Amino acid sequence: MNTKEFIEIENEYGAHNYHPLDVVIKEAKGVWVTDVEGNKFMDCLAAYSAVNQGHCHPKIMAAFVEQAKHVTLTSRAFRNDQLPLLYKELHDLTGYEMTLPMNSGAEAVETAVKTARKWGYQVKGIAKNKAEIIVASDNFHGRTTTIVSFSTDENARADFGPYTPGFPIVKYGDIDDLKAKINENTAAIMLEPIQGEAGIVVPPAGYLKAVEKLCKENNILFICDEIQSGLGRSGRLFAYYYEDVRPDIVIIGKALSGGFYPVSAVLSSKAILGVFKPGEHGSTFGGNPLAAAVARKSLQVIVEEKLVEKSAENGEYFMDKLRAIDSPHITEVRGRGLWIGFVLDTKARPYCENLMTEGILCKETHENIIRFAPPLTITKEEIDWAVERIEKVVKALD
Ligand SMILES: *Cc1c(COP(=O)(O)O)cnc(C)c1O
Repeated sequence: MNTKEFIEIENEYGAHNYHPLDVVIKEAKGVWVTDVEGNKFMDCLAAYSAVNQGHCHPKIMAAFVEQAKHVTLTSRAFRNDQLPLLYKELHDLTGYEMTLPMNSGAEAVETAVKTARKWGYQVKGIAKNKAEIIVASDNFHGRTTTIVSFSTDENARADFGPYTPGFPIVKYGDIDDLKAKINENTAAIMLEPIQGEAGIVVPPAGYLKAVEKLCKENNILFICDEIQSGLGRSGRLFAYYYEDVRPDIVIIGKALSGGFYPVSAVLSSKAILGVFKPGEHGSTFGGNPLAAAVARKSLQVIVEEKLVEKSAENGEYFMDKLRAIDSPHITEVRGRGLWIGFVLDTKARPYCENLMTEGILCKETHENIIRFAPPLTITKEEIDWAVERIEKVVKALD
């Protein structure tokens, strides 16, 4: 079957909740993908940073296949021989005392929300059903009914009400707005340390530090959603490292499995995750041995291949080269590590379509921003190859 035939079937039988580029991928390796026609493309989205380690990483694949031969799912009614080791390795890598494993990112966000509320009632002593979790404008934390309740994106929210209450919204980066919204019912503030879906929005210097200080002063939990920014994408293991803060709760997902499988987790202290007693929260697939084996190897690859360091170095290199492109339509090139927002003064979609013709896959976010976020394994030579083509496309559309 060719591209057109696959697309016709997909459009006929699948819900149209995405607007994908018309490329039908069949194979992938490292930073490169191949479509059903045999065309090769550089992947500059990396599945929204789920494949930081590169597509079909051989070591993660081997761990995946090997574990699949032994046991894939026990449920948490029984124990398995992979999950304890994932717990220990996450602790050793991040310094957090405990992990609560889930599957998708949204589920881990929901878990963090439930943790903060329970902590609010049981530890902080907030009056019953009054707990508030402050979130930021232009946030992206996932797609469940509760999470879209506190989205500021009408597209994500409209006609999905009634909405879950208890999520005051503050302006991202505005510490005074946050101060004004804190009250005795505030259990937590949840932020992306850099906003990904909003277009790689880096908060003003000192913001996270000031948030942490306010949280400490007011006995509020500081939750960082590192699902996209974490595990090396930003050029640090976690984006919050840039301000030397220590969130009470960190949420991870995406690259935790190198793209093989949905694996997410909530990291925190014994005092905080200790609010959960048996039966109060769970997931059939959460913490399954296949997920745990894949996550263990995915973390090991990040460390062994120095992907965090590579992201920092090659991200600078990529950004410098993009900034050198001279075009009246480029408003800003911003980001951290290999997580670059390429901001235009015009619609980004035609650029993405022309980049596809040139052999580069990327996706617009918010109409006028292109996100460049290739696997962290990308080399300088591959970046040079990409920039040449990006420049060509930008000039052609000037
Ligand atoms: C992708 C993402 C999520 C949701 O993850 P899913 O696996 O799609 O549910 C949550 N938060 C952030 C910051 C994300 O980028």
